[in-house]
Amino acid sequence: MEEKFCWRCNTKVKMLSDAEFSLCQAALFGGKKVVEEELIKRNYTNYIWLEHLETFEKFRYFVEMYRLLTGVYEPNPNAIFHHVSSQHGMDCPNCTKPFRTPQAKYCASCGYGNEQLTKI
Ligand SMILES: [Zn+2]
Ligand SMILES: [Zn+2]
Repeated sequence: MEEKFCWRCNTKVKMLSDAEFSLCQAALFGGKKVVEEELIKRNYTNYIWLEHLETFEKFRYFVEMYRLLTGVYEPNPNAIFHHVSSQHGMDCPNCTKPFRTPQAKYCASCGYGNEQLTKI
């Protein structure tokens, strides 16, 4: 898990590693027991489960797992689906915002890496 700027949310968010995102997906399909197993693994004894959920019930443990991993309650499951580091590019050496995609050759924010721009 790392903090990265998200282009879609226009703010810094907690981005999951692929392994962490797999855990969220496991919780989405496996439900409460997957989150419980992770709590035991991490020795979290006083975890407080969400009472109120602002999204569909089927996303409850997906949201819980993200919360367990990041400490952040993200009520929008769609945000969690794209808060995965590998879906974003490297951090720009110039302005530190991530390139929009892993394939991006230049920074959409400051133009770093764009030959045509830097030559002008
Ligand atoms: Zn986002
Ligand atoms: Zn940049």
